[in-house]
Order: sequence, then structure tokens, then C-alpha cells
Amino acid sequence: MDVDEKTLKKGEKYYKAGKVLWVVKYGDKLFSKVLGTYPYYVEINTSTGENRCTCPLGGDCKHVAAALKAYESGVYFETFDRHTELFPEAIAMEFLAEVPELALDVTIKELRFALNTDESGSETARLFRRALLLLQALDRPEVLHVLEEVLEEYRHVFSDYRLTEKLEGEFRELRERSKGGV
Ligand SMILES: [Zn+2]
Repeated sequence: MDVDEKTLKKGEKYYKAGKVLWVVKYGDKLFSKVLGTYPYYVEINTSTGENRCTCPLGGDCKHVAAALKAYESGVYFETFDRHTELFPEAIAMEFLAEVPELALDVTIKELRFALNTDESGSETARLFRRALLLLQALDRPEVLHVLEEVLEEYRHVFSDYRLTEKLEGEFRELRERSKGGV
């Protein structure tokens, strides 16, 4: 590994700002997804220090430093699934599925991010629906407000989409149901 002090500091900041979505440990390898200008995928070999990132630098970057900081802070899932190297994100999703609260937090982070980077609206819609599903089982009224804001922005950008109407309908339904439950 060849990460300088300044990059390590930046990585720590990223970690503290919640930009590390997840870290999966498989043997001596770490896999991670970190939100930067775009979402980036990081791989680190903890024994050799070798690392890779999908950002323009390719590695030894603040995303690698951020993932490492999360790992050192004990924030990671450990797996023995041999499919991890091919599908680290799927493995992370399996872990998150067991912890809906955490899954919702990660989904909201991705959703806010997608809203600013997703030109088609497709990824935002997918994450929005996942958040709705997760919310059905959780009592998190503050997240309803977040979703309402997201929806407003979405309506603004994709005003001519039928999808927008559908998402609005799905959101209203959930909101009514959660009101009924109170
Ligand atoms: Zn990077």
C-alpha cells in the first residue's frame, strides 16, 4: 500500500461522513463500496497491502483509505462465501437483509446520492422502492420525510415520467398505512 498521510486523513473524513456503504471481509481480502464523486468499488489485500479502486486513480486513494478506516473501526461483515470475489455487493446485501435498520440507512445514502448523479431516474426509482419496502417493517417516521423530499426532487427532474406518478402512488399508500398504524 502506498497511501500518503494526506490521503489517509481524507479517507478518515470520508469514513466519518458515512461514505463507506459496506465492507465485506473474505479471508485476507476486503471489498467495499464507497461514495465519492461516483460510487466506487474498493478491494484491499490486508496481508500484502495491494489495493484497487474503480475511481480514476485506480488505487492508493482516499476511497481505499476510507474502507480501511471502516475495517479498522470494526465496521465490516465477515464471510466465508467463495462467491465474494465475484459478487461482493450481493454478499453485502445478504448481510444487510438481516439488519433492516442498517439496510435502510445504506439505501437512503445511496438514494440521496443517486438523485444527484442518476440521469435516467432508474437507479433512483429502484432504491426508492427498496426504501419503501424496508419502511413497511420499520417505524422510522423521519425517513418518510426524507423520501418525501426525494420524491419532490424526482418529480422536478422527471416530471413527464409515468414512473413518477407510480412512485408517488406507492409513497402515498405507505404513508396512509403508517398513519393508520399510529
Ligand atoms: Zn479510489
